[in-house]
Amino acid sequence: MSDITYPDRGIPEALQEKLKAQYGEGFGEILAAFEKERPVTFRVNRLKADEKRVLQEFAGMTLRRAAFYEDAFILVDASERDVQKTALYEEGGIYLQSLSSMLPPLFVEPEAGESILDMTAAPGGKTTQLSALSGGGALITACERDKFRFERLRYNVEKQGAPRVTLLNEDARTLSPYFRFDKVLLDAPCSGSGTLSLSNPVRWSEKLLAKCVLLRRALLKKAFELLKPGGTLVYSTCSVLREENEEAISSLKGARLVPLAPPEGVPLLPSAEGTLCVEPDGLFEGFFVAKLQKLA
Ligand code: SAM
Repeated sequence: MSDITYPDRGIPEALQEKLKAQYGEGFGEILAAFEKERPVTFRVNRLKADEKRVLQEFAGMTLRRAAFYEDAFILVDASERDVQKTALYEEGGIYLQSLSSMLPPLFVEPEAGESILDMTAAPGGKTTQLSALSGGGALITACERDKFRFERLRYNVEKQGAPRVTLLNEDARTLSPYFRFDKVLLDAPCSGSGTLSLSNPVRWSEKLLAKCVLLRRALLKKAFELLKPGGTLVYSTCSVLREENEEAISSLKGARLVPLAPPEGVPLLPSAEGTLCVEPDGLFEGFFVAKLQKLA
């Protein structure tokens, strides 16, 4: 049982204070975004399907494409359940995924033949996206500590037909120090301050925040240890709090920040130069992404 308690409804006072201190006037819009219902979004899985197949499956429905990524689609006036009933979903030709969560794998820029570690991987949205982006050619190691979530990861990797993926049900902090990877994705456990929705119970607390800070510090240290010199780490969270984002990566030694170009049509909050913090709105969840290179 978790020792963390949450308020039943509403945004906790402590979080409101933090958002106000960090974003000033802009904090009201962030709070308003927590009340918005977002449309269903999905990614076409190029390992199994293509755009033509997507257009056929959803003919007659209002389908839009996100400007920043040709594989990202927005379905207006449909529910996740409607999507789950389609043959294309059943075949693993599409993956239900929030738009913001499709950003980190794009910045990993996975190539065939590269060894890539997805450190905290379940349920596997980003693992399968990394595989698809490399045309199935990247050698991916996907690690997940939680047994139940690991089974979801395994299921999704199989369903999406992602080849060359090694699955590890382990605590990433204790991965063998003899591993070396070209690239690492750390989609870190966080307080979820960017993805709160008032239609669901709000799971945010200062205790959770403090717990995640310690865990992330250890995961970041390990991520850097396992990178080859010159290799890159993409660090992401679904939080908009500086202490989980810029402050988390600022202590890394022997790292160079690789500046990220703002993706087309993605709303952004102010964040440290070269990093991206997606502003939650009616389409996007709050998310943070930064890229670091390990100096030789
Ligand atoms: N990247 C995933 C995706 O796109 O589907 C979402 C990852 S979620 C933000 C963070 C995951 O980290 C959770 O599944 C959690 O169980 C896992 N996790 C937490 N601590 C971990 C650790 N020490 N080692 C490995 N996985 C861990």
